[in-house]
Amino acid sequence: MDPSLSIEKLKNVGPRNLSRLYNLGIKTLKDLLWHFPVRYEDYTQTLSISNIEPGQKVNVQGQIVQINSRRIFPRRMSVTNAIVQDSTGAVKVVWFNQPYIEETLPEGTFVSLAGKVNLDKHGLYLSSPAYEKIVNNESGAMKQESGIKDSQPTIHNSSLKHTSGLVPVYPETEGVTSKYLRFLIKPLLKTIKLNDPLPPAILQKYNLPQIDEAMKTIHYPLDPGQADLAKERFAFEDLLLFQLKALLERRKLNQLKSISIKFDQEFIKDFISKLPFELTKDQKIATLEILKDIEKSYPMNRLLEGDVGSGKTVVALIAAMQIAKAGFQTVFMVPTEVLANQHFKTVSSLAGQDLLRVGLLTSSACKLNGSDFKRSELKKEIADGGVDLIIGTHAVIQKDVSFKNLAMVVIDEQHRFGIQQRAALVKNSNPQILNDKQAPNSQIGNSQQIVPHLLSMTATPIPRTLALTIYGDLDISLIKEKPKNRQKIITKIVSPSKVKEAYRFVRDEVAKGRQAFVVCPRIEVSDPRKEIKVSGERSKMNILWADVKAVEEEYQKLSGSVFPELQVAMLHGKLKSKEKDEIMKKFKDGDFDILVSTSVIEVGVDVPNASIMMIESAERFGLAQLHQFRGRVGRSEHQSYCLLISSTSDKSVNQRLKALEECDDGFELAEKDMSIRGPGEFFGVKQSGIPDLGMASLANVDLIKKARLEARLLLKENPSLTSYPLLKDRLESFQKLTHFE
Ligand code: ADP
Ligand code: MG
Repeated sequence: MDPSLSIEKLKNVGPRNLSRLYNLGIKTLKDLLWHFPVRYEDYTQTLSISNIEPGQKVNVQGQIVQINSRRIFPRRMSVTNAIVQDSTGAVKVVWFNQPYIEETLPEGTFVSLAGKVNLDKHGLYLSSPAYEKIVNNESGAMKQESGIKDSQPTIHNSSLKHTSGLVPVYPETEGVTSKYLRFLIKPLLKTIKLNDPLPPAILQKYNLPQIDEAMKTIHYPLDPGQADLAKERFAFEDLLLFQLKALLERRKLNQLKSISIKFDQEFIKDFISKLPFELTKDQKIATLEILKDIEKSYPMNRLLEGDVGSGKTVVALIAAMQIAKAGFQTVFMVPTEVLANQHFKTVSSLAGQDLLRVGLLTSSACKLNGSDFKRSELKKEIADGGVDLIIGTHAVIQKDVSFKNLAMVVIDEQHRFGIQQRAALVKNSNPQILNDKQAPNSQIGNSQQIVPHLLSMTATPIPRTLALTIYGDLDISLIKEKPKNRQKIITKIVSPSKVKEAYRFVRDEVAKGRQAFVVCPRIEVSDPRKEIKVSGERSKMNILWADVKAVEEEYQKLSGSVFPELQVAMLHGKLKSKEKDEIMKKFKDGDFDILVSTSVIEVGVDVPNASIMMIESAERFGLAQLHQFRGRVGRSEHQSYCLLISSTSDKSVNQRLKALEECDDGFELAEKDMSIRGPGEFFGVKQSGIPDLGMASLANVDLIKKARLEARLLLKENPSLTSYPLLKDRLESFQKLTHFE
């Protein structure tokens, strides 16, 4: 049977089950096979009835010697009682609400039962065990029939699939039980032939099972070790694909041309010595890495990771200075207007106008070197090379601007930015100039596109394993060390009963002249799978509206009954960006005491006078995100606080929050976050098409390293993978599935 066949073709899948299976994402036989068990029930030991003991989970096999069902009124229940006997003894069996079993397993039937042994005052009994018939066929071998009701099974295979050995338990959904899935999958394992995309030499080297073998043993292992090995094999395959993808992407980039910017040590040293602060060691290293990257004539692809407030902007600025010195342009793209304004200010104050002409371009602001400018004129300046560094929002820059000679793009707070997007930015640039200045090995024909160097900056610490895998094509610079003058933010979990005290604390701080942020609970989407199915825009709107509602309620509560004497403002995603900026500006100017908002404020806004970050229903956020919120305060000499209001008294939930009280290292928290919530949830790639198993393997450093090595070797030996057509095929479909941009 062809694995790409639709599951409709399976005899036992009727229309009702078809749509249920679709809900699990199972459309083809292949999907079905790749629906791996989450765990196994252990019925490896078939026990003699005389040997079973209370509390055990057992498999017993014997003959039904007595069976009857009766109804229990008034509770509308039915109970089926049976006695099963083998050569050593007999045991009672009880099933609830499955009266049909009386007919399925009439007296005299041989059965295999799997379940828990209980004890009551009448003795031992098996409670609602899984069951399957053992039938003698002509040749004397055993065969079974399953008790699936709505699909009338007629399968004939030679081993038990529900009650004996390690029995797979699958991710289930309404109407699709593990029992049903076993019933579909087990016979498939016999008939299907899979092509192994992994080269035999690699399988051999790591002692990994071949795909058919692994597929059988992942569903029906003889022992747990076999299951682990099968899992490892599939995980390895996913990781290898990740690595191949990353290396190929990297190779594609390295074949492109970028402007090589000479590193002028004297100039850079001089600039750094004039900064109002001393760079941290990590900042210096990152700066050097970037300056070396942009000396190359192929594009830099670097991620600069550093906690909030670790000072990433100045690092990017130094590179921009060097680029300006060489006569080229840089653009800083940021997600919000507020951030664009803030960067514009920081950068303008750190760099002298004589060295760097800085422009600001957002949907509402347009400035050059500190003075307002007409939009059309600023754009003309940019096109003519009258601006060295343009700071603005992605949207505006991507649609509005053509550059004279763009050499570097800096993206703040966005994970991915693809080759196409870079290329789009320079499509209006004048390549003539590049040819003149960029002579060295001048193969820069008109056909060769010049793309800018790329520096992405993020305050979201990405766990190392995840970075190695998903961002394998990026080079990474880390800023771990914080500037010396940074204070520790005091973090406290506030239990539901202590909320009043927290409010009192806020009031006291405000009385001292400080301000507070209040973040509203995240709106939980009940079923993410559904959410993604609703057409994208609409579902986004729904979430937005729910967010607005949460903010409004919180605002009403705080301004009305909690802090009637204070100035409270609110900020949410439904406001126009102009309105948002207005509110932020007023808050920054001290016109409001408290700003209630959604997670909008997550990205880097600077309000030095704010000393409190209060997060409602903090348990609904991930640790990494909470840490980001916290980074909004503590930006001045005032002692700052982060209050995590928990809406539950569940100890284990609050235990998770404790990590924040104790730790202020974003990387450590990110690792913790990932280990608690799993890479899928952490990274928000639930819908990315990466199989769960592949996701789990993102935390397996050892396996990642092996996959990385093998990916390198494979591409070295056979750069286009033509000798491995199956792997190549698999890679192509994988690339389609995993787009993080
Ligand atoms: P982030 O990494 O969150 O983007 P910023 O680049 O906005 O951080 O830096 C936060 C603030 O710290 C800015 O005002 C910046 O000028 C300042 N800063 C940067 N590096 C240092 C340093 N080494 N010592 C002191 N202050 C610094
Ligand atoms: Mg920043």
